[in-house]
Amino acid sequence: MTQIVAPSNAAQPLDTDVSEEAMAANPAEAALIERLRTVGLRPTRQRLALGGLLFHGEDRHVTAEQLHGEALTAGIRVSVATVYNTLHQFTEAGLLREVVVEAGRCYFDTNTSEHFHFFFEDDARLMDIHGPSANVLADAIPGLPDAPDGTRVERVDVIIRLKRA
Ligand SMILES: [Zn+2]
Repeated sequence: MTQIVAPSNAAQPLDTDVSEEAMAANPAEAALIERLRTVGLRPTRQRLALGGLLFHGEDRHVTAEQLHGEALTAGIRVSVATVYNTLHQFTEAGLLREVVVEAGRCYFDTNTSEHFHFFFEDDARLMDIHGPSANVLADAIPGLPDAPDGTRVERVDVIIRLKRA
């Protein structure tokens, strides 16, 4: 009878769970692992690498192409398709909010709270509008129709588009 012994230091594919030792080694990564697990996502190397670029303090608005560029600069070898998939998984899990500025241009927002945006058309940049809460602003919009029977307003998205004056 032969005994099967797993190789101890075999290269791990990108989509495997990271080891417990890796968790202990880096507090920021450990926090991210915990965050992913809390929302039901396995902490794979890809998710940790991209999550590390996204969630490091300040709120960000990034397109998939921007994040892909950052990943390449950081030496993370991923395809644009993988970046897209990961961003959509994060969005479905509630870690990101998708802001569609126009067809073919959407941003992923690390600030998932209700808020509105300024969009600077000259340099394709989104900026959070602070101040009155989205609910207050939505209430202030004159003539906002009541939701049809059997529905409720899930949220109101407002993008105020700016051009350099
Ligand atoms: Zn935002």
